[in-house]
Amino acid sequence: VVKKSAQAAVGAGERPDGEAFQEAKRKARVVLHVAGVTDREHLVAERIAHAHNVAIVESELRGATAHLVRRAGRATILLGHEARRSVAHRNWAIAHELGHHVLNHPSVAIADLDRGGGQGGSDRSGPEAEANAFAAELLMPATLARRRCEVSPVSLDATHRLAREFEVPPWVAALRFAELTSERVAAVVCDPLGVRWWTASATFRPWLRVGRAIDRRSQAWQCVTAGATHAQPWLVPAAAWLGATVAGSIVEHALADPARMGHALALLWIPEVLAKRVRDTSRIK
Ligand SMILES: [Zn+2]
Repeated sequence: VVKKSAQAAVGAGERPDGEAFQEAKRKARVVLHVAGVTDREHLVAERIAHAHNVAIVESELRGATAHLVRRAGRATILLGHEARRSVAHRNWAIAHELGHHVLNHPSVAIADLDRGGGQGGSDRSGPEAEANAFAAELLMPATLARRRCEVSPVSLDATHRLAREFEVPPWVAALRFAELTSERVAAVVCDPLGVRWWTASATFRPWLRVGRAIDRRSQAWQCVTAGATHAQPWLVPAAAWLGATVAGSIVEHALADPARMGHALALLWIPEVLAKRVRDTSRIK
C-alpha cells in the first residue's frame, strides 16, 4: 500500500544494509534481469510490471495512492488519483506495489485503508519499508544510478537531477542518493515531532537519532514550521543534527513536502574539508 504520505521511505531508519532490505533489493535485481532491463530507457515501472504478469488499473481509491489486489492467481495494481499526478508518482506507486507482490506480503483489505489499517511508508521496518527498498532498487538500480551520485558539492540540485533522470519523486531520489554516494551524506525525514527516520552513505559516520527534536538553527526547522525550501544549502553547526557534544559544521539542504505541511527531508553532507572538525567532544579526555 502506498499511503498518500508515503512517497519517500527508502531503507528507512535502518542502515541500508539490513538483511530484509538486502533481500528486497536482491529480488528487485532479479525482476530487472527477467524483464531484460539493461539501461535507463527500459526502466518503465508499468512495462516491468507487465513483464511480471501484473496488470495496472486506474481506480478511485480512498486512503491510499495505490493498492495490490490478488485474485484467482492474478495480481492487479490499482492506481488512485494521487499516484497519477505525475509520471514520477506513477512509477513509484507501481514499483512499490510490485514490491509487495514479489516479496509475497499479505494484502491489506481496502476497507482497512481508510481506518489507517495499512502501514504507512514511513515505517522503519516491515513490509512498507521493504517494498520501498525494492522500489528504489527497481527504479534506480545501483548499477545505473551510483555514478550519478558521485558528485560534489552535494545539494538538492544533485538529487533533483537524479529524480528527473529516473522519473521518481524528489524525496525518493534524495534518499537513494544518500544510500549510493561515496560522499558523507545522510537523508533525514522530519516532521514537527522531530527526526522520523533516516538513511546514510557508508562513509557518514555520525549516528543520527530517531525522535530527536528539529533544531531551530537548521533549514529543516524552516521547512517544518514555514514550509519554506531554500534554493541553496547552508552551513549549520554539526550539533544541530548530531548532538550538543559534536563540534564542527556540516552542510544542510532541506526540502519541504508541498503535499504535507510540516514534513521535510534534510540532506546532510560533511565535505572532506569539514570532516576532521566534526567530532564528538565528549569522547575526548
Ligand atoms: Zn505499501
